[in-house]
Amino acid sequence: MSDLESTLLEATPRQLFINGEWCDAGGGATFAVHDPSNGGVVCRIADATAEDAARALDAAVAAQEPWAATSPRFRSEILRRAWELVLEHADDLALLMTVEMGKPLSEARGEVLYGGEFLRWFSEEAVRIHGRYGLNPEGTGQMVVSQRPVGPCYFITPWNFPLAMATRKIAPALAAGCTAVIKPPQLTPLTTLYFARLLSEAGLPPGVVNVVTATASAQVSAPILADPRLRKLSFTGSTEVGRRLLAQAADTVLRVSMELGGNAPFLIFEDADLDKAVEGALTAKFRNIGQACTAANRFIVHESLADEFATRMAIRVRGMGIGRGTEDGVVIGPLIDDDAVTKAADLVDDAVARGAVLLTGGARIERPGSFFQPTVVTAVVPGSAILREEIFGPVLAISTFSTEDEAVRLANDTEYGLISYVYTRDLARGHRMIDRLETGMMGLNAGVVSNAAAPFGGVKQSGVGREGGFEGIHEYLSTKYTFIPV
Ligand code: NAD
Repeated sequence: MSDLESTLLEATPRQLFINGEWCDAGGGATFAVHDPSNGGVVCRIADATAEDAARALDAAVAAQEPWAATSPRFRSEILRRAWELVLEHADDLALLMTVEMGKPLSEARGEVLYGGEFLRWFSEEAVRIHGRYGLNPEGTGQMVVSQRPVGPCYFITPWNFPLAMATRKIAPALAAGCTAVIKPPQLTPLTTLYFARLLSEAGLPPGVVNVVTATASAQVSAPILADPRLRKLSFTGSTEVGRRLLAQAADTVLRVSMELGGNAPFLIFEDADLDKAVEGALTAKFRNIGQACTAANRFIVHESLADEFATRMAIRVRGMGIGRGTEDGVVIGPLIDDDAVTKAADLVDDAVARGAVLLTGGARIERPGSFFQPTVVTAVVPGSAILREEIFGPVLAISTFSTEDEAVRLANDTEYGLISYVYTRDLARGHRMIDRLETGMMGLNAGVVSNAAAPFGGVKQSGVGREGGFEGIHEYLSTKYTFIPV
């Protein structure tokens, strides 16, 4: 660990953040955070109990009414200040993410900007929460429609975007006048703790945001989810865990937002600009070392272009720098843990056993840490597990189609519906794809689409609700209708 990293860790909180105070977990338990590039222990942090979680919810409930009563401008200014602080501490936040998660430092810097944008966007939205007022059709009275904050929220976030997944929930909630408890992922909790410190510095009153770090996710979440004072659950993570949480949310009829898994198709039509498709594919596949819900999972390429596309991708992939994310020129850092490496290897082995052709990569890299070779596998046959499951690793899998209808059928042949990528020069075809692909988002000749000003989210089993954009704040507002006779 470098001197810079040691200094940064000294400045990173390691305790729970409840009611504006940093405190140890009940019983003083702690757990280790690891560096996936070498398996070493980065530090130990508080491991919350169910009682700690209940205390955090108490704080959020107590802060709810006063926070909702603050002026929109007050909430807006705090979010704005938090955005400025994130930018002022961009180098620290980026390094922290690289150390605990493994992504290359350049990408971590990109996430700081992207994650920070939610604070700026929702600082602007905080002062634009409007209702409506109008005569009813009978002319007998006025209908007043207003928006109220939902109430105390519980946020559960994943490890792959440690900052952005937190700000994408916290910023709209605060703008709307909601308080929150957040449980960051066990694998990458440090970024959220650091961010909570910045929120406090930005002037956020005690109890408005509370952070519980824990290894026993289910046990710590259970009392919060069962408490009728909680009014909203927002979860980002796997579809499997999302299903379980939806069942728990049913007991108290919680408002829910679910940002779940994906299995994104990347369609390349015969009229595509192949140079652009290659560049888009590199971003859509290898950003975050393939560990993104938006990662292109299935490259579905017209049969006339498949060989050339595969060859060009293999050449590019062979030249990728591999190493710790802090090193210059690294594009492929470690995967999050050894399970992820095993999963990637199993998916490639299964595809090859069924007849696919391995062009490059395909194996674990023998060195400390959880590294997997960037991989290109082509001629993947239907029925291969790699076409059904989220790969969540640097593996590019190519299959082919011959007609537009076949491409659409293959693309939609999944229970997921988060994002699709389409490369075509034909504008009419592009519009047909917007209509025909079962997906919450689409990149048309683009390999990345995320933007704080856009509604992020999926259809089918990829989720419920939207984060970001004008839509994002409505996840944290309840509509109230009042009738006044004239
Ligand atoms: P995960 O579902 O394993 O864990 C997500 C979070 O849920 C973690 O904080 C974990 O501690 C917690 N958790 C796990 N079991 C729980 C339980 N029973 N009760 C309460 N909390 C529980 O997912 P992950 O491995 O951290 O993240 C990867 C997954 O997240 C992928 O499927 C990816 O597609 C998805 N993801 C989706 C989006 C999106 O916006 N749609 C964004 C990023 C990641």
